[in-house]
Amino acid sequence: MSKGIFPIDKLERIQTPFYYYDTELLRETLRAINNEAQKHEGFCVHYAVKANANPRILRIIREAGLGADCVSGGEIEASVRAGFPSSKIVYAGVGKSDWEINLGLENDIFCFNVESIPELEVINELAAAKGKVARVAFRLNPNVGAHTHANITTGLAENKFGIDMRDMLKVIEEASQLQNVKCVGLHFHIGSQILDMGDFEALCNRVNELQQELERHRITVEHINVGGGLGIDYQHPNRLSIPDFKDYFDTYAKKLKLRPGQTLHFELGRAVVAQCGSLITRTLYIKKGSVKQFCIVDAGFTDLIRPALYQAYHKIENISSEEPKEAYDVVGPICESTDVFAKQIDLNCCHRGDLLAIRSAGAYGEIMASQYNCRPLPKGYMSDEI
Ligand SMILES: *Cc1c(COP(=O)(O)O)cnc(C)c1O
Repeated sequence: MSKGIFPIDKLERIQTPFYYYDTELLRETLRAINNEAQKHEGFCVHYAVKANANPRILRIIREAGLGADCVSGGEIEASVRAGFPSSKIVYAGVGKSDWEINLGLENDIFCFNVESIPELEVINELAAAKGKVARVAFRLNPNVGAHTHANITTGLAENKFGIDMRDMLKVIEEASQLQNVKCVGLHFHIGSQILDMGDFEALCNRVNELQQELERHRITVEHINVGGGLGIDYQHPNRLSIPDFKDYFDTYAKKLKLRPGQTLHFELGRAVVAQCGSLITRTLYIKKGSVKQFCIVDAGFTDLIRPALYQAYHKIENISSEEPKEAYDVVGPICESTDVFAKQIDLNCCHRGDLLAIRSAGAYGEIMASQYNCRPLPKGYMSDEI
C-alpha cells in the first residue's frame, strides 16, 4: 500500500501545503545514475539545478558527486553555496546578463554554454577585463524534435535556443580569433520529459554528423554535452520510482561515436528529483455540484504550476482515508479557472481535514512557486529530518 511511504503522523503536524521529499529515494536514484553512467568511459553527469534548488536537495546531489548545470547567476550562487566545485559548474541560457557572466568568470566555472555570437563577444570582453580566458561550448540547435509537450521541446529550428547548426564552423572560427575565450566543446538539449529513446538516438546521429564535419576541417573538441530531458513515469510513481538510467546511458554509449579522450556530459534534472517529491495539501471543503463534486484543497497553482501551465498529470492520493473511492475534481483556492490539479479522478472518500499527496512533484514544483494572491511560498521538508 502506497500510504506506507508517508509518515502520516509526522506530516499531520506540519502546516500545509508543503513539499515532502523522500531522501532515501533520492539517494537511491543517485546511486542508480552513478552505477549506470560509470559503466561507460568518459561519461560525466551534471544536475540541472532549475528542476529543484532546495539547499538540502542540492547538498545530497553534490555529495553524490554530480556537477551542476545552471541557467542563471542565482543558480551559480546556489550551487557554490551547496558546495559544488566550480570545476563542475556549467552555465547555459539564451540571455546571460553581464553580472551573471562576471559571476561565472569570478568563480572560474568549468564552461559557458554560448547561444549566440553577440554573447560570445560579450564574454570575451568581460573575460579580457578580468585578464581571464573563459572556456566556452557552443549550444547548437540540432533541429531534432522531441515527442513531448510543445512547450518543453527546445531543439527545433523554430525554438529560441542555441545556434543554427549550419553556423557551427563559423562560430568556432570566430572563437579562435578571440583572445579571451577558448572553445572546448559542443552543447545540445532537445527538450524535457522524453521517454522515447528514439529521440535521443536522433540527437546522437546528428552529433555524429557534426563531428564528421568538424573532422573534415581538422577540428576536434574535448567535450560533448547532450543536455538532459529524460522523462519519468507520472502514472506510476510507486512502481517505477527510479527511471531507466541503464537504457538511457546505454543508448548514448551505443549510438554516439565519441572520439578518443572525449568526455560526454549529461544534464539531468527531472529524472533525478521528480519522483522523490510530493506536494502535501489538506482538504478544506467538499463541494457537491449538480454534475460533479469538488475536493477543494489548500494548495494552488502557486505551489505547483505544472497542471495549469502544461496540462501536466500528477497522480493524487488521499493518504488519510481508506474509504471506498469516489470521483472528484481536485481544485485549489486561487481565483483562476486553471487552478485545477485533476479532473474526475478517483480518490478514497475525502473529508475536510484529509491530507492529499500530489505525487511526482520533486521537479519543477517548489522551485516554480509564486506568491500570486499574496500567498506564502511552500516550504520543503526532508523525510530524514522530520
Ligand atoms: C532544463 C534543462 C535541462 C534539464 O532538463 P530535464 O528535462 O529536467 O532533464 C538540461 N539542460 C538544459 C540546458 C536545460 O535548459
